[in-house]
Amino acid sequence: MGIDTPEAAGVPAVSGTHAPQSSEDRADRAAATVRGDESTSVAAGGPAGAVRAVKMPLVDRIASAVVTAAPPILVALGMWLGWSDGLLIWQDLLVLAFFYAAIGTGITVGYHRLLTHRSFKCHRVVRAAFAALGSAAAEGPVIDWVATHRKHHQFSDQTGDPHSPQLDLREGWRGQLWGLVHAHIGWVFSDMEVADERRYAPDLLADPLIRFVDRTFVLWVAVGLAAAFGAGAVLTGTTTGGLTAMLWGGAARIFLMHHATFSINSICHAFGRRDYETGDQSRNVFWLAIPTWGEAWHNNHHAFPTSYRHGLTRWQLDPSAAIIRLLELTGLAWDVVRVDPARRARKLSLPAA
Ligand SMILES: [Zn+2]
Ligand SMILES: [Zn+2]
Repeated sequence: MGIDTPEAAGVPAVSGTHAPQSSEDRADRAAATVRGDESTSVAAGGPAGAVRAVKMPLVDRIASAVVTAAPPILVALGMWLGWSDGLLIWQDLLVLAFFYAAIGTGITVGYHRLLTHRSFKCHRVVRAAFAALGSAAAEGPVIDWVATHRKHHQFSDQTGDPHSPQLDLREGWRGQLWGLVHAHIGWVFSDMEVADERRYAPDLLADPLIRFVDRTFVLWVAVGLAAAFGAGAVLTGTTTGGLTAMLWGGAARIFLMHHATFSINSICHAFGRRDYETGDQSRNVFWLAIPTWGEAWHNNHHAFPTSYRHGLTRWQLDPSAAIIRLLELTGLAWDVVRVDPARRARKLSLPAA
């Protein structure tokens, strides 16, 4: 299985001393997309029509709708039925915070930086463990998620982007609002063209462990819910404590994490600072940095997709990068991709404040 760019293989790009910015942009976009067969590939940023159209099957749309709508309904129901009986005790909050951080790491470090962009390398069992941890977030099977996200990077804010707020054709504020709604949540329910896994994730399809985790996605969601129940039961010593912990550490956690991830697609492509010229509308949104575990430095990320750090300055908080650094220090991660300062300086669109 060939990998066609050095960056896609997890190797930092060696930028030519006189390389024009546009060719670096192309290299970065191409790096986001791992192509197995050169003959079927199109140039990064090329016409969407060149890509084989794959419509989302109805059963997948129904599953997406259920997975997205059920958690907030369950939380609302739980609050309505039991708020007066001391629902949401400190044990629930503890379970919520722990599972949000742990399973959030499965998405940001696992699904996104490791499996989509290859920001570092690790043992294949650790890779599969990250895939399983990310699966528990109920954001879709790993190969599907990765393929969709690589397609987003390839066509960022152009036709072919699965979730851009910039593509609504309606005039004025209506167009902007519907664009945001589509990018945030509408795309999950639409019958839009989905990313072809054979084209966008051949590397993951070639890994039997990852294929296993992808096939058993529902199991990992269930394990995440059961673990929250177990933690609540142990902390409170009661079955009711387990159930309320599952409500907050399971349903509420899934709901909050879904919308943190969705915010990257909507808010981080519409509002905020653009420090780097990336050819799309990606933005850095500081107030989302913590709830998104460092992913809201999204303009930085589109500028340097394979960088293990999305927060590139000292004050751009990035917990996911700190976790990868910790993995590196303990020998669990290696070949961690860093962007050299000269390359960053060349891409800056604004003078440093
Ligand atoms: Zn983006
Ligand atoms: Zn990305």
